[in-house]
Order: sequence, then structure tokens, then C-alpha cells
Amino acid sequence: LTLLLPWAILSFILLVSCMVSIWLIFRQRRLNEIKNDFVSNMTHELKTPVSTISLAAQMLADPAVSKTTDTLKYYTRVIVDETKRLSFHIEKVLQMSTFERGNGNLKMTERDINDLLNMILENFWVKVHAKHGQLIADLEAEESYALVDETHFTNVLYNLMDNAVKYTPSNLVLTVKTWNEKGNLMISIQDNGVGIKKEYQKHIFDKFFRVPTGNVHNVKGFGLGLAYVKQIVDAHHGFIKVESEPNIGTKFIITLPTLKQN
Ligand code: ADP
Repeated sequence: LTLLLPWAILSFILLVSCMVSIWLIFRQRRLNEIKNDFVSNMTHELKTPVSTISLAAQMLADPAVSKTTDTLKYYTRVIVDETKRLSFHIEKVLQMSTFERGNGNLKMTERDINDLLNMILENFWVKVHAKHGQLIADLEAEESYALVDETHFTNVLYNLMDNAVKYTPSNLVLTVKTWNEKGNLMISIQDNGVGIKKEYQKHIFDKFFRVPTGNVHNVKGFGLGLAYVKQIVDAHHGFIKVESEPNIGTKFIITLPTLKQN
């Protein structure tokens, strides 16, 4: 037995190191896949508007192209729209690194969240309207003051509403609600889109995660929006959860500590 014991220990150590090595190789492979997906998504998303802008600018500069008011208007509109698309994508990627570079520091101020939402919805309504959708706002929270970093918290709300629009192919109904529960302020953002299968729900807040199948494939993105949303909500001592059914829709619910007004 004394002779066998060292061999048994050695074999056990070898087995464990083999298993760890295999796990590390698979993990590295998965990380490489995620990185490659991100780079190819990013390249596509940035290249398309850049080449469209470049084409439109060439047309404007080309003396052979007639410059009627209509063509001028058309090419200028293309440049304006595509520049907006480009800055939207850049902004999405930068949101998270801005927060991380600032060591997760937030500039907290007292804010009436119902007011903030009303302001955001006023601007966001255009996006819903462009999709011939419907916007329902039920801002019933009576205690609606909270301590928030206005820039980051506004990004959170926009990200969730952008996703609602992105992942609802038709007849969008976007419902935004606030109410109070156990001294907290609750905010829900609900759509009637493609939904998220149960098995993927626990991963959607992971950096770079995108649902790999279904309709979502032709919707472009970087898988960063919800990771950022969760980081910010956590930094506000809040909580975010998802309720979703495939082909029925998705609801994100944020719980935020309220600031009782004297
Ligand atoms: P992106 O939209 O850039 O892929 P996000 O981090 O915002 O990244 O979302 C992660 C994934 O979660 C998305 O790829 C999508 O599969 C899923 N998802 C997020 N919001 C919704 C929604 N409202 N409806 C359906 N799926 C969603």
C-alpha cells in the first residue's frame, strides 16, 4: 500500500491537470470565438455607414452628377443619417469603457425618475413612430425621486428601449411603467417582440453575449448593451431582472432605492 499510494496521488494530480488543461483550451477557444464575432460585427457595423457616407460624398463632389435640389437633399440626408448611425454604434461601444475607465465612479444627483422618463419618452417616441408602433406610458410611482447618475441612467433606459424596438419585428407595443414596491421605485420596460428562451435568459447580461439562434441573427449588435445596463443598475444599488417568453415578448424590471422627499 505504501508503494501504491504515491502512484495513486501522482495519477490523481496528472488527471486533474489534464482536465484543467482541457477546460482552459475550451475556454480559450470560446473566448476567441466571442472576440472574432465581436470584431466581425464591429467591422461590419462601422464599415457599412462609412462606405455609404463616402459614396454620397463622392456623388456630391462629382461634377458629372447633376445637382438638382432633390439630389442635393437626398445625398445630404444620406450623409446625416449614416453619420448618426455611426455615432450611435460608437457610443454603444464606448458607454461601458467610459464607465470602467472612470473606475465605476458615478456623479449622483437627486432626480425625479418619472420626469426623466417623460423627457426620454418625448425623444424616443420618434423611433416608435418610425416603426408604426405604439407607446404606452404608465408612470404611477408616487415616490419617484432617486439618486442617479443622470448620464449613465439615461443610457440604461435608452438601451432597454432601443432593444425593445430592435427585437420587435412588427406591431411594436412598448410599455413603460413605474410604481412603488416595498419602499423601492420599480421601472418596467416591456415589448411584444421575439422574446428570449429560458436557457439564454441567465446569459443576456454577460459581456458580448448574443442569443445565437432565431430571428435575432439578422439584428445587428455587439452584445454589450445589457452588460452595461447591469453594471450601472448594480452601481446604483439597484437590481434588474428579465421576464420573457419566446414570440410573446420581453419585460425588464429595474428595482431602485427611492429617495424619500421631505
Ligand atoms: P445586442 O443587442 O447588441 O446584441 P445586448 O447586450 O443589448 O446586445 O443584448 C444581448 C442579447 O439579449 C441580444 O443579442 C438579444 O439576443 C437579447 N435581447 C436583449 N434585449 C432583448 C429584447 N428586448 N427582446 C429579445 N431579445 C433581447
